[in-house]
Amino acid sequence: MPGVSYKEYRCPHDQKLLFKGILIDSEVEVKCRDCKQLVVLKGEPVNAWICKKEHCPNRIG
Ligand SMILES: [Zn+2]
Repeated sequence: MPGVSYKEYRCPHDQKLLFKGILIDSEVEVKCRDCKQLVVLKGEPVNAWICKKEHCPNRIG
């Protein structure tokens, strides 16, 4: 998908960048390399992703 801008998922404790990507309707558990905290990241609701309307504010990327 050209032109897709990935979302940045950051640690809520120290704002370190954990990873970039797009999570759809899912949860990921990541351990921050810096502060060693477990962080649970929640994905976007799937209906936001599949909105087909051009320039819809709910679309990602
Ligand atoms: Zn951290």
